[in-house]
Amino acid sequence: MSPARAHILVVEDEAAQREILRYNLEAEGYSVAEAADGDEALLLLEEEAPDLVLLDWMLPGVSGIEICRRIKRRASGRDLPVIMLSARSEEVDRVRGLETGADDYMVKPFSLRELMARVRLQLRRARPGTMGARLQYGALLLEPEAHRASWAGHGLKLGPLEFRLLSTLMEHPGRVWSRESLLRRVWGREHDHDTRTVDVHVARLRKALRRAGAPADLVRTIRSEGYALG
Ligand code: CA
Repeated sequence: MSPARAHILVVEDEAAQREILRYNLEAEGYSVAEAADGDEALLLLEEEAPDLVLLDWMLPGVSGIEICRRIKRRASGRDLPVIMLSARSEEVDRVRGLETGADDYMVKPFSLRELMARVRLQLRRARPGTMGARLQYGALLLEPEAHRASWAGHGLKLGPLEFRLLSTLMEHPGRVWSRESLLRRVWGREHDHDTRTVDVHVARLRKALRRAGAPADLVRTIRSEGYALG
């Protein structure tokens, strides 16, 4: 099992546009969820826990602007890149787009090649592990493509789930992950596991870290909240 593929939510009311975006994103190796209006988008943001959102400006129901504001108001909004797509090119729209907290902005019709480049750029920033980037935290090193992790040069013996768990924690050191969000990230969106499953695998990860000489409190338990690295 490789590190999880990045999951992208496409919010667009025109079916033909959605289809083109899905096709191109899947060709790049991402998994894709689609919403056709604002209300569906808000629902899928919770259910799908996407790694990036492509968000059409003009939507029936809740507007793209409002959805973007709601995403960015949340604590986790910083780590969820939003690329706004708009049919209007007036400069005022660009400014408003940035005021909503959108990470990037493209005017239709746009080049799909350029859009894919910007998607990669945003994901490398927000979810480096899913893009194959090496992650480092102190003496801890994780190389997704080689499927290797080590502490001060001592290899860690990790199962695939512990590897994904460590990759997720290392993407944002210090960030507190709830057990539920770890389940979605590590076990996938259609998991049917109990949150205690997370505790079992965190215990295995800690054991592997201790064996390689890492400090016992490297993966911390945050009471009634979840886990964090460092
Ligand atoms: Ca539209």
